[in-house]
Amino acid sequence: RSKGAGRDCYTFFAIEMQLEVLKEQKVEKELNTALLNNELCLYYQPLLKSDTKALIGAEVLIRWQHPERGLVPPFEFIPIAEKTGLISRVDDWVLLQAAQQLRSWLDMGISIPSLSVNISAHRLNQRDFAEYVHKVIRQTGIPPQTLCIEITEENMITNLENVRNTLNLLRQYGVKVALDDFGTGYSSLSYLKELPVDKLKIDRSFVMDMHQDPQDRAIIRTIIELGHGLGLWVNAEGVENEVQIRMLRELGVDEFQGFFFSRPLPLAEFAEHYLISHESSPA
Ligand code: C2E
Ligand code: MG
Ligand code: MG
Ligand code: MG
Repeated sequence: RSKGAGRDCYTFFAIEMQLEVLKEQKVEKELNTALLNNELCLYYQPLLKSDTKALIGAEVLIRWQHPERGLVPPFEFIPIAEKTGLISRVDDWVLLQAAQQLRSWLDMGISIPSLSVNISAHRLNQRDFAEYVHKVIRQTGIPPQTLCIEITEENMITNLENVRNTLNLLRQYGVKVALDDFGTGYSSLSYLKELPVDKLKIDRSFVMDMHQDPQDRAIIRTIIELGHGLGLWVNAEGVENEVQIRMLRELGVDEFQGFFFSRPLPLAEFAEHYLISHESSPA
């Protein structure tokens, strides 16, 4: 009897797994179509200088305008795209799109210091990535330093040598590199030692409770000191209230990003609030 129950349990589990695989296959197929049909779009979240609150750039964040499901957030398809390898095409599309946007702003006489693009570990580990970035820069003619590549610590350990070569090339071109979600990976410190980066982004999980948790504050203080000690620019993600702002300023963080200032915005809204009317808006 218990054997039977065990088998039922096993069968149930197997069916669950099968459903999961089917769902992933469905999303993969749809995502393929989405790439062809222009269903993917970019949102822009401002990055602000901590002392003046001046705009110093934006992080580009992908969304999927699904014909039936509406606006799909990245956590619902990026992990699947990573699993299937489709992420490389997604990342390349985002990068090109961001560069073309920078180009058209330049052509319109609108200046934005930089755009940051998230690149998956999967894409970063492919040998032709740096070459692709170079091609995009040449094709669009954007100043390379207006492009920042955000990478995360996860999954890089297997090919550290490879990644280091790629990052060295990117920096030779003049492209900036940021270490995203800093402090959540397993070997943050060794990555910092091994990888040439320009910016650290303190993970949102530390910022979230910092106004009520001294331990989070201690971690943030240490990350900032570490970053500055290495000559890096330090960003705090997930800034949602004024107490965090005051504390982060006191700790010397260089750059703010978070819902307190703005959620990620569609292109038109971002341009309207931060690029076109920016000059005339009160400080
Ligand atoms: P991330 O690169 O760490 O991006 C920051 C995420 O934090 C964004 O979520 C943003 O909306 C969110 N965020 C910013 N400020 C706040 C805040 O004050 N409070 C809260 N609760 N959240 C805040 P989003 O857009 O859902 O993106 C999630 C993740 O998906 C990104 O994390 C990144 O890892 C990935 N992702 C997004 N776009 C792309 C892309 O184009 N390519 C790749 N490979 N990954 C992407
Ligand atoms: Mg990011
Ligand atoms: Mg992050
Ligand atoms: Mg992340």
